[in-house]
Amino acid sequence: MLDHAGGPSSEAAAPARDLPLDSHLHTDLSPDSLVPIDVYGAAALERSIPEIAITDHVDFAPGAPAFDFVPFADRERTVREAAERWAPRGVAIRFGVEITYDARHEATIREHLARHAYDYVIGSVHVYEASPYHASRVGAWVASRALGEIVAPYFDEVLRAIRSGLFDTIGHLDFVKRYLHPLVTAADLAAAPELYEPLLVALVETGVALEVNTSGLRQPAGETYPSAAIVERFKVLGGTAVSAGSDAHSAESFASGLEAGYRAAAAAGFETLAFRRGGDRVAVSLPDRFRRAGEPNEAVIPPL
Ligand SMILES: [Zn+2]
Ligand SMILES: [Zn+2]
Repeated sequence: MLDHAGGPSSEAAAPARDLPLDSHLHTDLSPDSLVPIDVYGAAALERSIPEIAITDHVDFAPGAPAFDFVPFADRERTVREAAERWAPRGVAIRFGVEITYDARHEATIREHLARHAYDYVIGSVHVYEASPYHASRVGAWVASRALGEIVAPYFDEVLRAIRSGLFDTIGHLDFVKRYLHPLVTAADLAAAPELYEPLLVALVETGVALEVNTSGLRQPAGETYPSAAIVERFKVLGGTAVSAGSDAHSAESFASGLEAGYRAAAAAGFETLAFRRGGDRVAVSLPDRFRRAGEPNEAVIPPL
């Protein structure tokens, strides 16, 4: 399970509170989470996070963990009923999904999304059995290759996911960082920002949102997927839409690191997060405490 990978425990990965939205959460409707949905409703209430998106896994490659795992109708009913229970208490629960993008199944994904209405759709590339990054072969994969070649299978698939136009946001842009550690470190990738450039340009050109996924803060990478520096580069290139999510698979990880995720978006110059509640995309304002230094803010003007 993602949350039990034993990553660094730091202040950055601490549970957050007083944030408007956590847009990436897994419940027991995902094959790798045991969290009943009401646990997140209660956590959101307790932490003053008034809106959450349930984004359980759906896979389209036969044999993948979330292939045919829970039927759409069951997922929709579970989340919508929970939304009805929690709305009166001030927590809005949205019915999202995290679809594993797989170019071989793009037509099937497109058909699924055309026929099923979600509030919010994350498209992500995951690492499963056949991947060169699988623990059984990542060593051999890395040994004989330059960094660009090492990440190419993952990044190329992410590029196809962006270009597909199927998704509101791209989840954990460089999740491959998790599987390459420690053979390739976060520092190695940070030293090669050019590898990210085609992905960022494609996001800018398509308007697809870049997710700041904070699960990396509680995994060996010790930083968000992607790093704050990449979020900043995205903004410089003309990026207009970022999202942020904890990608929690356990109750303890709810909103974990999300303060740092918001901070990365703010530091890059974003003032809102991109989200969708069905219908058109909406912009969720970052709380005032995320204003960048130097911006107008009465709180920092010294008294006369
Ligand atoms: Zn994912
Ligand atoms: Zn996820």
